[in-house]
Amino acid sequence: MNKVYLSKSRYCNCIQCKKILWMNKYKPDCAAGEDKSAIFENGRKVGELAKGLFGDYEDIEFDINLSNMIEKTNELLPNKPNVITEASFSYDNNFCSVDILKNDEDGVEIYEVKSSTGVRDIYLDDASYQHYVLSNLGLNVKKVAIVHINNKYVLDGELDLKELFTIKDITETSKAKQKEIRKNIDEINEFMESHDEFNEPKVEIGMQCFEPYHCDYWQYCTRDLPKPNVFDVKGMQTIDKVKKYDEGKISFEDLKDDDINPRFLEQIDFELNNKEPKIEREAIKEFLDSLKYPLYFIDYESCQHAIPEMEGTRAYQQIPFQYSLHIKRDEDAALEHREFLAEADDDNLLRHFAESMISDISENGSVIVYNKAFESGRNNEIGRLYPDLKGEMDRINANMVDLMIPFKNRNYYAREMKGSHSLKYVLPALYPNDPELDYHNLPVVHHGGEAAEAFLNLKEKSKEEQEIIREGLLRYCELDSLAMVKIWEKFREVI
Ligand code: SF4
Repeated sequence: MNKVYLSKSRYCNCIQCKKILWMNKYKPDCAAGEDKSAIFENGRKVGELAKGLFGDYEDIEFDINLSNMIEKTNELLPNKPNVITEASFSYDNNFCSVDILKNDEDGVEIYEVKSSTGVRDIYLDDASYQHYVLSNLGLNVKKVAIVHINNKYVLDGELDLKELFTIKDITETSKAKQKEIRKNIDEINEFMESHDEFNEPKVEIGMQCFEPYHCDYWQYCTRDLPKPNVFDVKGMQTIDKVKKYDEGKISFEDLKDDDINPRFLEQIDFELNNKEPKIEREAIKEFLDSLKYPLYFIDYESCQHAIPEMEGTRAYQQIPFQYSLHIKRDEDAALEHREFLAEADDDNLLRHFAESMISDISENGSVIVYNKAFESGRNNEIGRLYPDLKGEMDRINANMVDLMIPFKNRNYYAREMKGSHSLKYVLPALYPNDPELDYHNLPVVHHGGEAAEAFLNLKEKSKEEQEIIREGLLRYCELDSLAMVKIWEKFREVI
């Protein structure tokens, strides 16, 4: 048997579902996942920083020819005690690079670095696989650990790596997994041996398509399911969707008389019967009556740094860097627009964001947002960071009204919302075929994830590129707050 070449990521793919390995080999073009470049870039930055966790280290540079990496590792191994990063090994066609290898006189310690804030089960498989490779090469593995981000750490002066990273010792779990790894590798080899290019494996979809990662081959593996189907029911837990699927309740027709949450049944009913929008006018009127002029329609954009960059902030804290504000001062006033977009290299951007907003929202009218928990949460964080601004942040929060509520409560529901109350579903449902309100027609930035990524990478761009991206960010955020104005107008129209 020709042994399958495995690496850490290939082994972990197979732990999730062996068919992923087969697809990667024979049908890689069928992958249709989200763009993961931002996640990889984050992981790369965290990995680079963690290399210094134990002081000086010798780094094995990536080489497409992996045997060069193994050779360099072998040259450094006798110089113990030392720390080798990306130390590379291969045993029986199983390759791995250890993020950080502490190479002591009496054995080695394996540290697998993750940019997440906790330990997931798949990380245990990842690190245990490395333990397997090294111990089978005759190294004495004393310790296996996962290094991850501590999101309680608050930046206070110099970045403290020992505080930023948490080290979780998983040696005992890894030892217990060694037998299982041998068995898994044998099974992977048998699986690939019995499924060649012309013999696609038959693997039923299930929880493995979602855990630990959403599989990139989901579209391909579900291409023959009726559309829409149980996996399109908004808000239903994935585990319940899979259960329904296993029971053969797949299409909306199969589900329409099922004993499930009435919200799910409503989505199904609207879809199957092509129903007209449901509008509870009393509730909408009550919502409108609760608003007080001037009306401030505001939307924030935020980003997260895995490694905190600003004094007083935590790893992965949501940092608002931009807002768009539409103001309607009274019934007859023209719509005004204000906006703020921080400079990418501004160390004080949170304060500048808050000061600009306070001056733009100077009166006590309704501050209308979409998903209040997010904006009010950011304001509370700003208030904690800058006690002198707390009073104003509290004032803005006290005036805050959530425009999402009538949709969340289904006081207004249309088939096109597909069970969702997200702005990106609600707006086109209320204003179908309006090119000016279509996010697809925006230049550069089309959704919040893109906005965050664009801002995080801004510093690395040329001046000309920065101008184009900044303009894209401004137009995107402007549409978000304008969307709220349009929803408010629609509410007035329907009552
Ligand atoms: S979609 Fe599911 S069944 Fe298909 S390859 Fe991915 S995990 Fe396996």
